[in-house]
Amino acid sequence: MKMLGHFVDGAVRMGTSGRFGQVFNPATGQVSAQVSFASAQETQAAVAAARKALPSWAATPPVQRARVMFRFKALIEAHIDELAALITHEHGKVLSDARGEVMRGLEVVEFACGIPHLLKGEFSDDVGRGIDSWSLRHPVGVCAGITPFNFPAMVPLWMFPIALACGNTFVLKPSEKDPSCALRLAQLLSEAGLPPGAFNVINGDRESVDTLLTHKDVAAVSFVGSTPIAQHIYETAARHGKRVQALGGAKNHMVVMPDANPKLVAQALMGAAYGSAGERCMAISVAVAVGDAGDRLVEELKPMIAALKVGNGTSEGVEMGPLVTREHMERVRGYIDIGVQEGAKLVVDGRGQTVPGHERGFYLGATLLDHVTTTMRVYQEEIFGPVLVIVRVPDLASALQLIEEHEFGNGTSIYTNDGDAARTFCHQVQAGMVGVNVPIPVPMAFHSFGGWKRSLFGDLHVHGPDGVRFYTRMKTMTARWPTGIRSVAEYVMPVMK
Ligand code: NAD
Repeated sequence: MKMLGHFVDGAVRMGTSGRFGQVFNPATGQVSAQVSFASAQETQAAVAAARKALPSWAATPPVQRARVMFRFKALIEAHIDELAALITHEHGKVLSDARGEVMRGLEVVEFACGIPHLLKGEFSDDVGRGIDSWSLRHPVGVCAGITPFNFPAMVPLWMFPIALACGNTFVLKPSEKDPSCALRLAQLLSEAGLPPGAFNVINGDRESVDTLLTHKDVAAVSFVGSTPIAQHIYETAARHGKRVQALGGAKNHMVVMPDANPKLVAQALMGAAYGSAGERCMAISVAVAVGDAGDRLVEELKPMIAALKVGNGTSEGVEMGPLVTREHMERVRGYIDIGVQEGAKLVVDGRGQTVPGHERGFYLGATLLDHVTTTMRVYQEEIFGPVLVIVRVPDLASALQLIEEHEFGNGTSIYTNDGDAARTFCHQVQAGMVGVNVPIPVPMAFHSFGGWKRSLFGDLHVHGPDGVRFYTRMKTMTARWPTGIRSVAEYVMPVMK
């Protein structure tokens, strides 16, 4: 049995707590590894390593920190197939999708390579006679990242390349469901020349997370995961004086206007709803059909769903893999039962899905529920599986109201050929990331990613300019040189002369 430990102070460490979790290959249902769950003491040791590495890494010129990122970028490119295979083996998504996830993470490393430029401060000459003022961005200190199972490479890469490039050191607590990728990235960072202790991976559960949230030497916490945990992270870490960004769950609506091409919309929905088995925070889980768009959409979707190839993500031609664990698959299946009980129309039922030769794998077929209403749990709650619900509304204003009233506000999109409808949507919609004829509007690495409402607790989004803001603190200097010695003492508040 493969045993997965931690990566602390530049080396792999086997766990000493005696507590373990099981890591599955979701395609076969077999246990593939045991992962150590760190004790509070082991977590404290990771923070201590990061604390020790901080002064010298923070004092390393940004140009040299960027060079480590350039080498890390080259190493990720060289190992992209290996990283993708690790993801598919533990998460279940198809290999091409796993490669895509690594690419999107790699783009953040590329952004971090430009850190000398991004850290340039502001300067004001002569804010008073002979006085200059300027601002500098300093690292915040030891940063922690706590990440979800659904993007074991991309989400950690949203955080630590920018944190490190800004001069911080980092402790990552990845998901216990698919921990191998983070451990491999830690080794690649070491190979790239990052000093020992600057980046550490600690595997575990609530014990290690709560140790990080309350540790006096942790200055900032980035979290991505479900909303109840995001709220816990935000409240606990903030109570302990840390800066926090905690990204939560989602229920992303795609508004389909009557003028949109139904085939184009159905194709976009197939990828957005069922790609990665719906286990994406930006997955479209609600199609809002405006006017008479609903019936045509259902007719287009039905044959496409029937043709969707479900199977082991490593097999050629497979479009949708299994769900991450048996427990999660049962939970999603339970939501389909609930939808039927609530009175939704079950157009396509994925509950009978089997994959020959993989009878113990965690498979669920693509599912379509129509005539869903806002009072149903399948509308209100995040299902996080291959279940698409269709809600029908009479006009754009009702679609906008629906989105506004939902507790989440992560991503959303509109499909239309009407510029006025699209523009009104962009201006009025209450969500953090908006697409026009783009189903999954995930911002590029040089923009920032984040939702509104209960999809994000905190002020700053991740990566891009907000990432640099989050991982630095501003110092503003005001300086006057020797003429001051020639003046007499002043007792009034300084004002411009
Ligand atoms: P999760 O909230 O169960 O776990 C996320 C992390 O928190 C993991 O590292 C886990 O070990 C830890 N954790 C779990 N329970 C904890 C507890 N009680 N105390 C402290 N730490 C705890 O999320 P998940 O199931 O791994 O991921 C799926 C969720 O993540 C979905 O809700 C999805 O929408 C969300 N997500 C959001 C975004 C976004 O950008 N907003 C991106 C990806 C995923």
